Amino acid sequence: MHAARLIDIGRMEVGGIPDPQPARGEVVVKVAAAGVCGTDRHILKGEFPSKPPVVLGHEFSGTVVAVGEGVTTHKVGDFVACDPNIACGSCPSCLLGRINLCENLVAVGIHRDGGFAEYSSIPAHRAVPLPAGLSLQAAAFSEPLACCVHALDIAAIRPGERAIIIGGGVIGLLCLQLARLAGAETMLITRSPDRRRIGETVGASLTAATPEEARSAWPRGADVVLECAGVAETMAEAPRLAARGGRVVIVGVLAKGEMVAFEPFDMLTREVDLRVAFVNPFTQSRALQLLASGAVQTRPLVTREVGRDELPAILAAKPGPTEVKVLVTG
Ligand SMILES: [Zn+2]
Ligand SMILES: [Zn+2]
Repeated sequence: MHAARLIDIGRMEVGGIPDPQPARGEVVVKVAAAGVCGTDRHILKGEFPSKPPVVLGHEFSGTVVAVGEGVTTHKVGDFVACDPNIACGSCPSCLLGRINLCENLVAVGIHRDGGFAEYSSIPAHRAVPLPAGLSLQAAAFSEPLACCVHALDIAAIRPGERAIIIGGGVIGLLCLQLARLAGAETMLITRSPDRRRIGETVGASLTAATPEEARSAWPRGADVVLECAGVAETMAEAPRLAARGGRVVIVGVLAKGEMVAFEPFDMLTREVDLRVAFVNPFTQSRALQLLASGAVQTRPLVTREVGRDELPAILAAKPGPTEVKVLVTG
């Protein structure tokens, strides 16, 4: 089959590799759509730990074409979305129900072969069935959306609060929609005019190009600030954009080892609550429901559809100012 593999840090290859066979308890999925994620770029640069050689791609949907021994939950022809995170079920974190914090977490498309290929074999329990009527293309957003649903759970927005979303990439634009659904008045901060325009289409109450602009619109700050840019300057800025007693949730990914300066005195005296949200514990089926009902829109977020051949160049380059989600559909 045709696949895009990370051979080593900084090196990707596109070409033929053997078709995956379904192992016991696994299903083979014919990939319909796979999203390119910022994490893929971090992995290529060695800023996010992975296990090359490996087929990248952890956000994908498709059709079950083969089932392994012992699988009773799926059949050939089922439409599924991959939940890439495989927890061990028996470490101290798993035993406490904190599966995203599993000490032995293995992720499809990061530590084992993923969805930038024609086929991918994944554990049946990580192949989440699609609700009736949901398109495979929209379902490819279910993993990033599931991460945002977890972030919104952590943010615990109450209706009528104000939320600032920093970053107009896919995570920011999905969190923006969820904050709005939670009843918040929303402001999107991004330098890119194109992304601000998409933000307006998917329901931002206000947009701003810079934190200064945001502060002049809401001088008291926001009840919730979601940092979705994964940029050191905006991470440092996030607590300053929070109102007294506000919450900050870090959703964006900075490179491993990168540091950010906060002012504890300011956060202490204004009781700014700094929180973090990591991946998608038990949130992927809710994400699929939000996509199926149409409550969360994905169409305006697809800025490009590409083939696997284009992946090495796409992952090696910084996302352009107009890029939101690149989907691999061929
Ligand atoms: Zn991702
Ligand atoms: Zn575990």
